[in-house]
Amino acid sequence: MKLLLHTCCAPCSVYCIDKLREEGIEPTLYWYNPNIHPYTEYKARRDCLKEYSKSIDVKAIFEEEYGLDNFCKEAVKDLNNRCVNYCYPVRLRKTFEYAKENGYDAVSTTLLYSIYQKHDFIKNYMEKLSKEYGIEFLYRDFREGFWKGHNKAKELGLYMQKYCGCIFSEESRYNNPNPPKPVLPEGFEDTRRWSLCVKRIENKNDYIDLLLEANPSKASINKYLSDSDVYGLQVEENIVSLAVILHIDNKTLELKNLVTKKEYRGKGYAKKLLKSLCGNYKQKYDKMLVGTSENNIPFYVKQGFDKYEKTIKNYFIDNYEEEIWDRDLKCVDMYYYSKDLKKAKVNI
Ligand code: SF4
Repeated sequence: MKLLLHTCCAPCSVYCIDKLREEGIEPTLYWYNPNIHPYTEYKARRDCLKEYSKSIDVKAIFEEEYGLDNFCKEAVKDLNNRCVNYCYPVRLRKTFEYAKENGYDAVSTTLLYSIYQKHDFIKNYMEKLSKEYGIEFLYRDFREGFWKGHNKAKELGLYMQKYCGCIFSEESRYNNPNPPKPVLPEGFEDTRRWSLCVKRIENKNDYIDLLLEANPSKASINKYLSDSDVYGLQVEENIVSLAVILHIDNKTLELKNLVTKKEYRGKGYAKKLLKSLCGNYKQKYDKMLVGTSENNIPFYVKQGFDKYEKTIKNYFIDNYEEEIWDRDLKCVDMYYYSKDLKKAKVNI
């Protein structure tokens, strides 16, 4: 099958291309999106797709048209219905035209992936165009893979847009007390929860090797591990980060260990885990302490541990048999900071 896939951006294309390739279909991507404002945003999305399509060796055609004048003239005729009156039709019709002129057998669109788009309208409109142009419309409800695609796009470091495209959607995203909510079709599972979730770890000793990466003394870990709560951040089926929390008194906790597996570092997983735990513990506790070497103070301050508590002089010299180094700095003193949990947000 020679398939032309209208493509609105790189992140939305990730799952669609993977899914089609799994089915043995090699799509040609077709970029035609004169609905993205301002020009710097248009360019960022287009250039990201150029890079991504090259990196996965998929053919992509770029139909250049920023189209701001026409878009605004058409959209203001009926602002509330601009998506269905102009924005979807102009892009999808052009895709069918290109497909007809260039001998494609079938057409589809990555707009069928987004849980923020008007899926049923797009489907019906594509069916209508399919009859008009005599070209098959390959329908797939790509929304089933929305979170899978979203997570993969983030991990790949693709440019992730924050609003649909036009300047009106930008306003609705940033200047609207009731922004539009995503719509999932009936029976579809919201896989966000299991693709990224926090789990209490009961078999603590199974994770000792990972905990040793943050605190290289087994004797030191053993002093707190059995009395602490251990939580892991699970991505898909893997525990990627761990946090060990010790209860100091009725109102105070101490973060004793926070570590992420080497291959998952630099993706913000430890921050997510910590944020989620602080959000949960705030129901019962007022304060979380952390003791840290000098190098990590900026990281913890950024996570809200912004109140200096105390310094334990020569802690790393007196409590470890070997010298402890954190990157290029020899650890000597332990610095204690705390976070006011009542200010913590709840979500991951
Ligand atoms: S909100 Fe999105 S679909 Fe609707 S007109 Fe704006 S860019 Fe197009």
